[in-house]
Amino acid sequence: MTRSDAKRARVVVVGGGIAGLAAAHRLSEHADVVLLEAAEHPGGKFATTEVDGVTFENGPDSFVAREPDVERLAIAVGLSHELIPPALFGAHIWSNGKLKRAPADFVFGMPTSPLAALRSGLLSPRGAARAAADLVLPGPLAGPDVSIGDFVRRRFGSEVLDRLVDPLLAGTRAGETSDISLAAAVPQIDGLARRHRSLAVGLARSRRAGTKVGGPPPFLAPRSGMSRLIEALVDHLSTRVEIRTSAVALRLERRDGGCRVQLEGDSSIDGEAVVLAVPAFTASDLLGELNPLAAGELAGIDYASVATACFIWPPGSVDVPPDASGLLVPSREGRTLAAATWFSQKWPHLAPPDGRIVIKAFAGRAAGDAGAALDDDRLLAALLDDLTAALEVRARPLAADVVRWPRALPQYAVGHLDKIGRIEEALRSTPGIHLAGAAYGGTGISDTVRSAQVAADRILHSAALP
Ligand SMILES: Cc1cc2nc3c(=O)[nH]c(=O)nc-3n(C[C@H](O)[C@H](O)[C@H](O)COP(=O)(O)OP(=O)(O)OC[C@H]3O[C@@H](n4cnc5c(N)ncnc54)[C@H](O)[C@@H]3O)c2cc1C
Repeated sequence: MTRSDAKRARVVVVGGGIAGLAAAHRLSEHADVVLLEAAEHPGGKFATTEVDGVTFENGPDSFVAREPDVERLAIAVGLSHELIPPALFGAHIWSNGKLKRAPADFVFGMPTSPLAALRSGLLSPRGAARAAADLVLPGPLAGPDVSIGDFVRRRFGSEVLDRLVDPLLAGTRAGETSDISLAAAVPQIDGLARRHRSLAVGLARSRRAGTKVGGPPPFLAPRSGMSRLIEALVDHLSTRVEIRTSAVALRLERRDGGCRVQLEGDSSIDGEAVVLAVPAFTASDLLGELNPLAAGELAGIDYASVATACFIWPPGSVDVPPDASGLLVPSREGRTLAAATWFSQKWPHLAPPDGRIVIKAFAGRAAGDAGAALDDDRLLAALLDDLTAALEVRARPLAADVVRWPRALPQYAVGHLDKIGRIEEALRSTPGIHLAGAAYGGTGISDTVRSAQVAADRILHSAALP
């Protein structure tokens, strides 16, 4: 099947987040595409907004450009001159009531050498010595998937786990170290751990061999905010793809030579192939009757709910550490605050010109969403208490705003990759249906774009197309 043969095919993309739009972008070169988005506007988790006249990101504020897919996509839709990196990298970790810079020479919170562990200032001498045991403990890692927590505790000890890896996982994925799969969440670390006797040795060898592992990821964002990427994609697609908003897909049915998507309001749309670029629990609902096996597996992918808050302070009233872009909070600190970004310092071109200070706060952890039980005012008050305890704050905020993200971040449990294998196997019985998005091969924007492009390529090369 060649790409030009596929030209006559119609593909229905369900979901207009970045994954659905990226899939539509790839498909539209060779197929007729209809994109269905339940909300009034495409974009999904992208949420650039204004709080008190200040541009703010309620959702993602940047993407990792190490994998070039999303950067290429942004350039393809005309943003090559608009992409900029943040002004600052790195984070502080709130440890025993003090802010300490997270070590740059750690990889996903794991020390790359005994010296690095000692120098970090985040571990006790005993904890640093225990971390060095990675060099002498038997290895490499063998057997089935393990949790990040089990792996790190065994190789580096509890201090590295609780003080370094836990806050990173909580701050970036709202994840619980005891549940999250090493192989699915940090495949580079899993690969090194399975090839080398010690992770530090594996890291040193791969660096000597010229492989880049760790280090600050090269983040980028459109100058005016992340939603600009969605706008540019939608503009670019407007003449090539039919984008239907307020179009809620309810279920998938089989149809001769393809699939039928039933929509709310008693209408339907047929396509030779379908991309489900919706959260896994929605994909499960849509597939419930047609492919119960795949639906059952998809329903087993858990999601964490989080909340983000914007605080704006008068100029000069908060001492924000100048050498990092934010703060990560270990679970054992027992705070509502999971992480914070010094937003006006990280993105100075978006900072209010009058010097007001903007901070983004994150709440919510997979193991128990501390903020869920609180109404908005109490959640804001709890986050404010935590920020005030972490930083020198001399005034009340001028504005505060909170956004809830229910079931927003997929949690890759131990065995996630096997689950994905079982889902793909189950989908073979209903050809033409493909999955894309954050639930499968990585939760970052770059990963979701890659998953969308893989789904689109599979369709374009598939015998299911006429
Ligand atoms: C607060 C927050 C901060 C984040 N920060 C970052 C960051 O800085 N960098 C980064 O790389 N990642 C970040 N992420 C993760 C990243 O934003 C997401 O993983 C990514 O945007 C998910 O894209 P998606 O297209 O897979 O899903 P979504 O964005 O969830 O899109 C799915 C779409 O499907 C639609 N839909 C749902 N049901 C139906 C239906 N029945 N019919 C039709 N349409 C339907 C939804 O309305 C939605 O538009 C963050 C996530 C959150 C929540």
